Amino acid sequence: MLLKTFDGHNDLLLNLWLHHRDDPVRAFFAGIEKGHLDFPRMQQGGFAGGLFAMFVPPPRYVQEVAPQRAAEKLAPLEILRQQLDILKALAAQSAGRARLCLTAADIAACRADNVLALVAHIEGADGFDADGEALEAFYQAGVRSIGPFWNLPNRFGEGVTGKFPNSPDSGPGLTAAGEALIAAANRHHMLIDVSHMNEKAFWDTARLSSAPLVATHSNAHALCPQPRNLTDDQLRAIRDSGGVVGVNFGNAFLRADGKRDTDTSLIEIGKHIAHLIAIMGRDHVAIGSDFDGISVPEALKDVTGLPPLYALLRSLDYDQSALEQLAWGNWQRVLQQIWQE
Ligand code: ZN
Repeated sequence: MLLKTFDGHNDLLLNLWLHHRDDPVRAFFAGIEKGHLDFPRMQQGGFAGGLFAMFVPPPRYVQEVAPQRAAEKLAPLEILRQQLDILKALAAQSAGRARLCLTAADIAACRADNVLALVAHIEGADGFDADGEALEAFYQAGVRSIGPFWNLPNRFGEGVTGKFPNSPDSGPGLTAAGEALIAAANRHHMLIDVSHMNEKAFWDTARLSSAPLVATHSNAHALCPQPRNLTDDQLRAIRDSGGVVGVNFGNAFLRADGKRDTDTSLIEIGKHIAHLIAIMGRDHVAIGSDFDGISVPEALKDVTGLPPLYALLRSLDYDQSALEQLAWGNWQRVLQQIWQE
């Protein structure tokens, strides 16, 4: 039977916003030639839910890949709003095939009903004010998860930067506004994503946050010393907080040589899963594909590569209950704990 996956991170909304401006809903349900995700392929791969990132891409990148979008010169908050609108339209115009989820019970119900579970996540609070108004507005609009920054600095801190190989200790930690954002997100019981945090911001968050620590899409630094990956000390802190790490399928986050080479074996994903489980235990390891945001192994290809990945893990002696936990259960548990409905 097809194992159902709940995924911690993907950039489908960015892809739709950049490249399917006129009819993102139709593109998603009819099928998209490029990228890793669309509804038909998700069905085929057993992708049944996940956190869908809203993200303000660097203007120079938008200019390069979608000049029509760049010409609109939209403010960051407007870009985030438009991407949230796309997510909501996917649910509203899905003829019952997808639903926006605000609670862990909503996610469980989607799973039971064979409906795609959509959770709204903000990757980089660019354009947010310091006193929590934007956070409040997005919370009211249905957003339940936030990473304060991506790779570039904003008023809340600096993302982890630096070339491969490098430590995640790449700069200063949270600003005062960043600390306030953590407190506000805690008050709303929102998920706080540490995936793009440098080490100081990570430890600031570990000290300040009352919620389990979650890295939605990061791997083991011990196997691939890319600054975006987590050191064993960070993994232990996540474990001790009751948190979760979603394994990232990006070649550059998997390979010991840090290259984006797509000629990467699925075994490399297996190695990261094994290391994360060795350090944290199997209650804390999940999937965080980063589909549509990175280059993945040719052997995985796209979301239809999930069943072959699980088949490989089965051959490495993961039993059904370990796979269920990895593919779904750990996200379900940690979201329930964080959102406290
Ligand atoms: Zn990311």
